[in-house]
Amino acid sequence: MKRFTYLGLISLVVFGLILAGCAPKAATIKVATEALFPPFETVDTTTGELVGFDIDLINAIAKKENLNIEIINTSFDAMLAGVGTCEYDAAIAGISITPDREASMLFSNPYVNAGQIVVVNKSNTAIKSKDDLAGLKVSAQLGTTGEIEAKKIPNVNYIPYDSYDLAFLGLENGQVDAVIADYITALQFIAKNPDKLTTVGTVFTDESYAIAVCKTETDLVTKLNDGITKVIDDGTMNTLVQKWLAATP
Ligand code: GLN
Repeated sequence: MKRFTYLGLISLVVFGLILAGCAPKAATIKVATEALFPPFETVDTTTGELVGFDIDLINAIAKKENLNIEIINTSFDAMLAGVGTCEYDAAIAGISITPDREASMLFSNPYVNAGQIVVVNKSNTAIKSKDDLAGLKVSAQLGTTGEIEAKKIPNVNYIPYDSYDLAFLGLENGQVDAVIADYITALQFIAKNPDKLTTVGTVFTDESYAIAVCKTETDLVTKLNDGITKVIDDGTMNTLVQKWLAATP
């Protein structure tokens, strides 16, 4: 009888320990980004920290929703692939909602409106809009909506770069004739080199940036949307727009 009691006690303790071990801890949500896309995400060269509109936004949302997030900086292509395979729970990097992407991942509600523009060297006066790009060397960042647009140009010699940083460098060095990029970001790259680069034509696509989420994590989308609503309602979104995007004409 006594033995049974001891055994019972021991099993209770063991059972309790197992339960405690399995108790839900606040899971870390892996959020991927591609920090070569100003003013949405870059690495601060002095501190080494990730900074930008998207970084502030995801941190503000995480705070509202009590989400414990870890931000991982990778390439744009790897970031989207990683959300597709659910290696990352989510990704924020000025990601445009597209039908193709919607087939392999979920999206939050949109938070910024964007579109594509053509950037050329100022010295190249022959290109006045995207209609003058046929047969030329046109670049964009691998896996982007800029790439989709570049590939639509008749007889184009499309040259992808791993980042927009490198694409604009290629343009300055004469390796390509034009870069197709998101308008707000294009203006930031032009601002670094205003004597050399310029936009031509008008913004020719209508895109919406949203947070991409692993296909099975519908609860996370709900929380992110709730967080987006809260940061809009309490004025945080407006503060971030003023802080990061106000310089955009
Ligand atoms: N908005 C573009 C896209 O989703 C580019 C985003 C980026 O380069 N970070 O493809």
